[in-house]
Amino acid sequence: MDNKVMYQLTYGLFVLSARDGGKDNGCIINTAGQVTTSPNRITIAVNKLNFTHDMIMRSGEFNLSVLDESVPFSVFERFGFQSGRDVDKLSGFEVERGKNGIFYLKDYADAFIAGKVVQTMDLGSHTLFLADVTDGEVLLGRNPITYSYYQKNTKPKVEKTEKKGYRCKICGYIYEGEPLPEDFICPICKHGASDFEKI
Ligand code: FE
Repeated sequence: MDNKVMYQLTYGLFVLSARDGGKDNGCIINTAGQVTTSPNRITIAVNKLNFTHDMIMRSGEFNLSVLDESVPFSVFERFGFQSGRDVDKLSGFEVERGKNGIFYLKDYADAFIAGKVVQTMDLGSHTLFLADVTDGEVLLGRNPITYSYYQKNTKPKVEKTEKKGYRCKICGYIYEGEPLPEDFICPICKHGASDFEKI
């Protein structure tokens, strides 16, 4: 089988946010979609390495900010490549809160959708959450960004480097060494070895 078939699937990009014990946190995910209309339900798959994952496991609630094509790379740096364990993810960003008390991005989001978890499935590296849609609002309502658009337009162009090794196609992190371990996880964005290319 040609593994490239998987690249033909389309994905959106979202800030997934949660609140637990008075703490806010959020991360970037690309796996969110409506699965049923009656009841109105969505699924999200979240990497267990994300602090937000543990918060949703405890609180059972989250918001999804559906990012717009105009979203700057800095949003991905903040929410995708930094851990809520180390930085206050909200500083410098305009946010609002839904009825569930959880923040969502006010700028750069076409809509926000609130979810209440009804079921979880352990997928190994990720947890799949099935959730009732409990609230939401159209914000910019323009063009939601796709993963493909992000790769072509939002992500900074790759700089030339003298380094030898492997580059993470998601965030640009370079692993200097040979070979790249099969179970390697990018320390910046938490993607696996399959998302690295040889340089
Ligand atoms: Fe990375």
